[in-house]
Amino acid sequence: MEQKENTNIYHRLESIEEVEAFYSAIRREKLTNKLSPERPFTYWTIETYDKANGIRGGGGLGVLAADMRRVAEQLQVPFVLVTPFYPWESHQKMQNMEQIDFHTEKHYRDFGFNFVDTVRIHTATTSVELEVIEKKLGTSRFLCITEPNFGELYSGESGSDHRLYQEVSLGFGGYQALKLVGLRPAVIQLNEVATFFAAIARLDELVSSGMDFYEAVVYTRKHTLYTNHTLVQAAEATFHYHQFEQFVFPNIKSTAVKRWLSDKFTDGIIRLSTPTVEIAELRSGVSKLHARVANYRDINGNKIKFKAVTNGIHMRTWVHKEIMDFYHERGILDRFDLPSIREFNDKIEKISASDIRRLKQAGRKSLNETLARRSDQYGNPVRIPDDALVFDFKRRFVDYKRPWLPFSDSERLAQILKDYNAHYILAGRVHAGDSRMFGKLMELLHKIDNNPILKERVHYLPDYDEELGLALSLGANASINTPIVGLEACGTSWMKDIANLGLLISTHDGGVADAPSDSYLTVDGKNEETEARNLYSQMEVAAKAWKNDFDLEYWIHKELTAYLDVISGTRMMRDYLNYLF
Ligand SMILES: *Cc1c(COP(=O)(O)O)cnc(C)c1O
Repeated sequence: MEQKENTNIYHRLESIEEVEAFYSAIRREKLTNKLSPERPFTYWTIETYDKANGIRGGGGLGVLAADMRRVAEQLQVPFVLVTPFYPWESHQKMQNMEQIDFHTEKHYRDFGFNFVDTVRIHTATTSVELEVIEKKLGTSRFLCITEPNFGELYSGESGSDHRLYQEVSLGFGGYQALKLVGLRPAVIQLNEVATFFAAIARLDELVSSGMDFYEAVVYTRKHTLYTNHTLVQAAEATFHYHQFEQFVFPNIKSTAVKRWLSDKFTDGIIRLSTPTVEIAELRSGVSKLHARVANYRDINGNKIKFKAVTNGIHMRTWVHKEIMDFYHERGILDRFDLPSIREFNDKIEKISASDIRRLKQAGRKSLNETLARRSDQYGNPVRIPDDALVFDFKRRFVDYKRPWLPFSDSERLAQILKDYNAHYILAGRVHAGDSRMFGKLMELLHKIDNNPILKERVHYLPDYDEELGLALSLGANASINTPIVGLEACGTSWMKDIANLGLLISTHDGGVADAPSDSYLTVDGKNEETEARNLYSQMEVAAKAWKNDFDLEYWIHKELTAYLDVISGTRMMRDYLNYLF
């Protein structure tokens, strides 16, 4: 049966010539020999963020996975996204200014998935049947494993039996699923170490079918890419040997593979990054800065080198259609959504303040439509007056992203919002069980409630998700991104903001640091207090720029010139393909 097409995609490369042109733009040697429908690029991820296809993620890791597939679909790259379909999804709402967590159930049939067959994974005492389901979209497909008790994304503690069960199911179950649908992976990309068992499943298959163990290791290594998103190895979850005896070893046929894996334990515990860097010769970090500073060591204590492949976004998903059309008409982006090679800077310089304002107005309309469907901390929908400016802060509520920083001087914030007729939209999501951040959020909401100006002009929107992320990127005039420098691996929301012609106010961290710090409105300082002061002045600079054509053009030109190449998901795919082949 034909699948319903993903409506996000309005342009695919239409002919084989176009595809070949793309491939040769990547590299003269034709990639079409390396990837085929039967030997696709396989991408493994415990988290995917693709609401339209029924899979909700937690944050940037999942958005990246979904965007990789969308870019592959658009560019006709044979691509399989192997990921769980979670039967449960967590949500949040506000009640009397308290955050309430609740769950919804999901059925894959409601999202156009087809049942393929079942596979089994084993524990020491029993075995579990997993359903294999798939959904094809162009040259790409979702290949998912699921079962009614699979649980939700990131349920339980990170070193718990249930997490290990989910990871084992994805790796060993997903690998069987690939074979079930008749595919052999050309490459395996591991989106973080939770997907490590896919590489082990492959190694085990090679060894069990008669290949010499060391040859099999070399072969697997050569075709496996480990993409790291975490900065500190010590922060990674650990598992115990007895958990492996219970959940992992019963799925491995070869004694040599079991022995190899056992050797990666130290004092009876293991971090999955240790065997992952042994089985993946290719390793990447998600921005230039991150690849440089990620502090990982192999089992012999040697520092691991990561290749930088900065995350990008699928622009046709995240950028307003009118803006994408504008980029194409002006020749700023080529038909592959890569920034044009010729006279790029001149073309950017020709974008006028009235272009920017007109295009932003269309975005504001979309924002208001979304806001009308959601509610703020008081349970009311929000409507932003047409003549008001919008600042936004949209992120998972985690410590290092510092959602409270703009509220460190409430009076000053209130004054800025009043002086420039601005509203501040805060969209967030506290990880279930994070009582510390939950407390901080409550504190923030009370601060807002106690100040009449903030109460009128600051809107907190719970249950931050793709819909809100997109709407705010489309409609906000300036976005605030203030991670503690050194802690953001890449971040992609700021890319959505810049591509939608918003001003970025940010610390110099993650992928933002791919370009010089004068490319946007930088926040720096010796300590948090000076950073906060600096942030307020940059908010004023942004507000004034929206009232002054020259300044608006200056900053938008700066941002686009510096970052459009980074932002382009096609650029990211090109970088991965170049690194892989
Ligand atoms: C884009 C997006 C992200 C990425 O967030 P960063 O904080 O920039 O890493 C996370 N969640 C959602 C819902 C998004 O749309």
